[in-house]
Amino acid sequence: MSDPAIKTLDEIILAEPRGFCAGVDRAIEIVERAIAKFGAPIYVRHEIVHNTYVVNELKAKGAIFIEELSDVPPGATLVFSAHGVSKAVQQEARDRGFDIFDATCPLVTKVHVEVAKLAKEGYEFIMIGHKGHPEVEGTMGQLSSGIHLVEDVEDVARVQPAQVEKLAVVTQTTLSVDDAAEISAAVRARFPLVREPKQQDICYATQNRQDAVKIMSPQVDLVIVVGSPTSSNSNRLRELAQRLGTESYMVDSAAELRAEWFEGKSRIGLTAGASAPEVLVREVIDRIRALGAVSVRKMDGIEETIKFPLPKGLKLDDIAPPGHIS
Ligand code: SF4
Repeated sequence: MSDPAIKTLDEIILAEPRGFCAGVDRAIEIVERAIAKFGAPIYVRHEIVHNTYVVNELKAKGAIFIEELSDVPPGATLVFSAHGVSKAVQQEARDRGFDIFDATCPLVTKVHVEVAKLAKEGYEFIMIGHKGHPEVEGTMGQLSSGIHLVEDVEDVARVQPAQVEKLAVVTQTTLSVDDAAEISAAVRARFPLVREPKQQDICYATQNRQDAVKIMSPQVDLVIVVGSPTSSNSNRLRELAQRLGTESYMVDSAAELRAEWFEGKSRIGLTAGASAPEVLVREVIDRIRALGAVSVRKMDGIEETIKFPLPKGLKLDDIAPPGHIS
């Protein structure tokens, strides 16, 4: 007879919301529609969204992912990724004469617009974000100077703006809400006149997925996050669960799940980053069921209804993208 003190795999609890956000949906649709309208290949600067499965599916449909615009042939159609690009990249793409579709998430564009507007008024900026992330490079690249990156509270103590009267703070959209609040507080403490965005720059999708993990984590023995290693918001979900005291792993696909993670665990929490498609969540559920889970329960959570319009040239025509990734 089994020892009742030893837990056995029982239930999967699905976080709500999880997975694709409106910006990711739109970015993928832009590439699919561009391929349908103009034919393959369509060039995409950087991974359209940070997910291996999505990128491979689009490659199979005719997308070519590049980092340098010099790798795009003249006359080609080029899509900018959801993370956004710097002014220099925009200019280079125009100079090279490409047909451009911009899949930058409108919530990233909103930050770019704010930076440009305040820069005209003489503001300098402190950007809270992760060095090297393409969104941070794109936002910092909206200006040629006067934007200083801080990654943590220690950086806030070190940053040296040229003046402190006109200083504004902006953040990467996919940060840990709690870390960003702590860093913002340090910025306010050091620069009391700093101007903060009316609405935080961290996007609704990041906020909602983190809130769901906060509710789910205490109810489960293990949290699995579906997401690619390059996905900022997916990494933040795994860290958050871990910080809340729940063992947590991030997997790019069901094949990465390890049976030993589930030993002695009864309830498994499952979520997915904003760039991870539901098909991968389904595969992870099947694998955990095969390991012994008997039921799947969806958490109550916010229903997201936001949808962003497609860019001109891709929305008016009736191009049905074949086999949209979901
Ligand atoms: S995670 Fe947020 S900022 Fe990024 S694409 Fe989705 S909605 Fe836009």
